[in-house]
Amino acid sequence: MPLNVDTLLEKALDGYALSVSEAGILLEQKDPAMLESIRHCADRLRSQQVGERVSYVINRNINFSNICVQHCSFCAFRQDEGDRDAYWLDFGTILEKTQEAVGYGATEICMQGGLNPKVREKVSSGRVLDYYLALVRAIKEQFPSIHLHAFSPQESFFIAEEDNLPIAKVLQELRDAGVNSMPGTAAEVLYEPVRRRLCPEKINTEDWIHTVTTAHELGIPTTSTLLSGHIETPLERAIHLGVLRSIQERTGGFSEFVLLPYVALNAPKMLRNKVGRDQPELLDSLLTQAVARIFLGPLIANHQPSWVKLGLAGAAEALYWGCNDIGGTLMEEHITSSAGAQGGTCQSPEDLRKAIVEAERIPYQRTTLYEEIGAHHALSALGDWEKAPAKGLINLSS
Ligand code: SF4
Repeated sequence: MPLNVDTLLEKALDGYALSVSEAGILLEQKDPAMLESIRHCADRLRSQQVGERVSYVINRNINFSNICVQHCSFCAFRQDEGDRDAYWLDFGTILEKTQEAVGYGATEICMQGGLNPKVREKVSSGRVLDYYLALVRAIKEQFPSIHLHAFSPQESFFIAEEDNLPIAKVLQELRDAGVNSMPGTAAEVLYEPVRRRLCPEKINTEDWIHTVTTAHELGIPTTSTLLSGHIETPLERAIHLGVLRSIQERTGGFSEFVLLPYVALNAPKMLRNKVGRDQPELLDSLLTQAVARIFLGPLIANHQPSWVKLGLAGAAEALYWGCNDIGGTLMEEHITSSAGAQGGTCQSPEDLRKAIVEAERIPYQRTTLYEEIGAHHALSALGDWEKAPAKGLINLSS
């Protein structure tokens, strides 16, 4: 009997896991009535699994360098050393940014950067790992209670390769130096035929899975992500979700799922021309977000849209499509804004709370790992967001 959408949604609502091909069928839907049924199902599951509250985190992004030896087809952030816009922040600047974030009540620093083997020249040992460890220790010595959410699986793998070390050793040392959790970025699409076309120099699917599961086994939680809306088919998106679900069944180490729709405006021409539009399609992103809730929940309970990529209004809309988190304040954002995203680079906690309340949900501030932060602490810690970094207080090139 051919599978229809209603049957699949009933199956999900009855608590049965959908197969990858069934998720692929949902992701193919275009008919408005079908999309509404999928949205409704995701919204019900969200309500059953996590209730009516929506979280946000006060955090700051620090991208310590945009110099990178790789050339991912979607990336507008990377620069070669010596390029006019290339930068590499010194530790003093990173500490200043951290200090400022703490002043604004941030509980998390999210740190990622380009892949640059020359970091080894900054440390006497000549080991790439030691540069990263020094960076982590510099922050943690001065700000021991800040949660450091740092280094993608690609960055950890890069360190291991450069220094010829087992990945477990790299992750263990980063953890012991003070990395609390890791972004589950560099996942893009975990399906080799797509991945090889999208980012052929990047860590392959098997190594991404190995890096992330090793991190989880070492007690380092990670987020999980999907880069959607480029060359991948609905089924390939579903395959990616299937990989995430099977990792979560094994380790339970994913704290959330974040959808990252592709922004093309300033991205390299070849992929941009193939995709044929500059900004993500909102409805396509919302559908993917809903199917992720149906397919991954309750194994991965927390689902986040990207306000940087969709705008705050788009991210707020995703709260009706299965999401229960609206992300972080970020304070500065360089990777997606370099690509031409129109969502901005900083949100105040008040603006995030307002967007949540307007969606008729109950806002609460959380830690990186989804523990609630008491209202008293949250309010007393807040700085003056009118002077927030994205409004010009700190110049990235300083
Ligand atoms: S996505 Fe990351 S690894 Fe790929 S080119 Fe950009 S900075 Fe480098």
